[in-house]
Amino acid sequence: MNEIHEECGVFGIFSPQKASLAETVYYGLYALQHRGQEGCGIAVCDDGVISAYKDVGLVGEVFDHSKLSNMPKGNMAIGHVRYSTTGGNERRNCQPIIVDHRKGRMAIAHNGNISNAAALRDKLELSGAIFHTTSDTEIIAYLITTQRLKCGAIEEAILNTMKLIEGAYSLIVMSPTKLMAIRDPFGFRPLCFGKFPDGTYAVASESCALKAIGATFERDLEPGEMLIFSSEGVRSDRTNCNTKKRQTCIFEYIYFARPDSVIDGITVHDARVKAGMLLAEHRPADADIVIGVPDSGLDAAMGFAKYSELPYCIGLIKNKYIARTFISPTQSSRTDKVRIKLSAVESVVKGKRIVLVDDSIVRGTTGGRIVNILREAGAKEIHFRVSAPPFLHPCYYGTDIDSCDSLIACKHTPEEIARQMGADSLGYLPVECLDELNCHLGCCKACFNGSYPTDVSNAAKKDIYEIKLSDKQQ
Ligand code: SF4
Repeated sequence: MNEIHEECGVFGIFSPQKASLAETVYYGLYALQHRGQEGCGIAVCDDGVISAYKDVGLVGEVFDHSKLSNMPKGNMAIGHVRYSTTGGNERRNCQPIIVDHRKGRMAIAHNGNISNAAALRDKLELSGAIFHTTSDTEIIAYLITTQRLKCGAIEEAILNTMKLIEGAYSLIVMSPTKLMAIRDPFGFRPLCFGKFPDGTYAVASESCALKAIGATFERDLEPGEMLIFSSEGVRSDRTNCNTKKRQTCIFEYIYFARPDSVIDGITVHDARVKAGMLLAEHRPADADIVIGVPDSGLDAAMGFAKYSELPYCIGLIKNKYIARTFISPTQSSRTDKVRIKLSAVESVVKGKRIVLVDDSIVRGTTGGRIVNILREAGAKEIHFRVSAPPFLHPCYYGTDIDSCDSLIACKHTPEEIARQMGADSLGYLPVECLDELNCHLGCCKACFNGSYPTDVSNAAKKDIYEIKLSDKQQ
């Protein structure tokens, strides 16, 4: 049950011929919907003229047939799905952001968070910059356009901007003549590209979006790499590659990405099954069956069952038709939101000693409600297992992991949390096991071990919390 959110997904397409690209971007964004459900947008470039449509809502809510067919044909287009941890859920904060400057128009879509955003914004404001949103994307856009005035080509302006910004960014930038895809030098967020036989290229946060539109996966972008798509073909700029040690977000594998996506050569489903197997090895339980919390815990539950040679069962059913517009029950109502989303299969769980696997525990309230649902259905014992280590630290790289105040693992031992949730035992994946999920590559685990790969200044921490606070007040 997802309590943590990724901020965004990005998508781009470059075609040698003019085509109805908005429609292709729509299907790409549909496949990336899990990365952001608050807002979305598409920008198309038709003979150098960039136009866009964006709004709050799911891809299927914001775009209908007439909106898509009203968008011009073009040879380039980009798109974005957004989760609003910063900047509030308003249309003006949706992306792609469109910027006009002296050398033309630019559209930009961003996934991530800049850890030196607060310092950059202060500096830019002192030199006269006026920002219309609180988003990091506007800072990046401002820096690129400022650099653009000094540079002969937009890719030079982007390279200069990469030297100024620090943190997580997978970017797609569209100028009137070129499309650029950029992955930050740490490689925090995923970004990959694929190709069609007619020479059309597509770029996406995850390979599942390439599959959805029928493109053949080519490869992931290297950390620090920029791909430039133009009428001359595709060119790779590696000026900023190998300047930092790779820090791919381990949580992409554990939680965010779609299980059928492949990130840096590792299938997300396989990583989750492996996490479940490691969990069973290090936190075994004497039980009759293994069940997963749908959908987030299913792959790891399979791994747990496989390693411990216990039957893997479907013990919980998820209502898949709860829309964004679903009215959550009020606190005074006797109805429980979790109960509307999940229901136990009594014939499976009754009288059984159960291993219940999920991918995270944030506040512990959802977990407690699920335990309750299983108890009511007659489960004899419930051994809660989590396929990630305990969250102890906030994330500054584009993930909505809250402050220590709301992270239950900051304040309680596993035994205390198990008691609070009504489970018979609780076991987390040991933090050392994370290295076995993509050990040969290198990953960020800062939310588990507090070791941040970039300098996170107090100003940046304050900035994130002030923005979060103002969002909550809206
Ligand atoms: Fe991912 Fe955690 Fe690092 Fe954030 S702090 S990038 S969620 S591993």
